[in-house]
Amino acid sequence: MTAMLSVAGVSKSFGGVRANHNISLQVPEGKIIGLIGPNGSGKTTLFSSIVGFHPIDGGSIRFQGKEISRLTVPQIARRGLIRTFQQTRIYSKMTCVQNMLISMPLKGAGLLGFFESQQSRGHRRAEELLEFVGLHSKRHLLAGDLSFGQQKLLEFAMALMNRPRMLMLDEPTAGINPTLINGLIDRLKRANSEFGITLFVIEHNMRVIMNLAEHIYCLAHGQLLAEGPPEAIQSDQRVIDAYLGAH
Ligand code: ADP
Ligand code: MG
Repeated sequence: MTAMLSVAGVSKSFGGVRANHNISLQVPEGKIIGLIGPNGSGKTTLFSSIVGFHPIDGGSIRFQGKEISRLTVPQIARRGLIRTFQQTRIYSKMTCVQNMLISMPLKGAGLLGFFESQQSRGHRRAEELLEFVGLHSKRHLLAGDLSFGQQKLLEFAMALMNRPRMLMLDEPTAGINPTLINGLIDRLKRANSEFGITLFVIEHNMRVIMNLAEHIYCLAHGQLLAEGPPEAIQSDQRVIDAYLGAH
């Protein structure tokens, strides 16, 4: 099986803090892969390195066979690799539809793209995707008036506007109430099965990641501790110890 994303020996330090050390992992095309680990284990740093948010100290990152570790965030996004953040990044004083439009065309980015796309296909796609995440009836509300869970759904829909080949989600269910969590899991699975988007998901909620991912990588202290199918990871003593040790 060909890996859509291949991370090989990636390291990243911030001053004296070794956030990632010699990490290697693969995300095969069409799959949903999980990334877990206690707080501070380096999950978000790895995502930031992959999408070009900061330079890495060493190693290689290949997406669809091409080295991307020296590319910028927009260059990588244009190749179809998009991430969402642990904290939502929406414009609270704009409506849901406006947020969708402004997040859209990476080519004509910014305000010009926003005005150009307003009457056009972009608008239709925004409406379709808001429908997909269950926010269509709220499309003209200010994003800041949505619940936190709904804002996460909006952010997910915004990421889909860029037609990603692969979406990397950083703790998509954090802070969401249990009813919306199930809806979000369902939407993530449908984005994978219906739109063919490969998913790489950081998740703190064990129940969620066990339900979602078919293969899970676990980080601890910036290094890869374990990997395997959900059942094996759940009962892996090293993983259990890492989580217990973190609390
Ligand atoms: P996780 O997402 O698993 O909770 P992070 O990747 O956010 O972990 O953090 C890993 C380590 O790197 C932590 O010790 C954190 O304090 C440190 N770190 C992350 N980002 C920065 C940064 N921009 N500057 C300095 N230290 C950072
Ligand atoms: Mg994090």
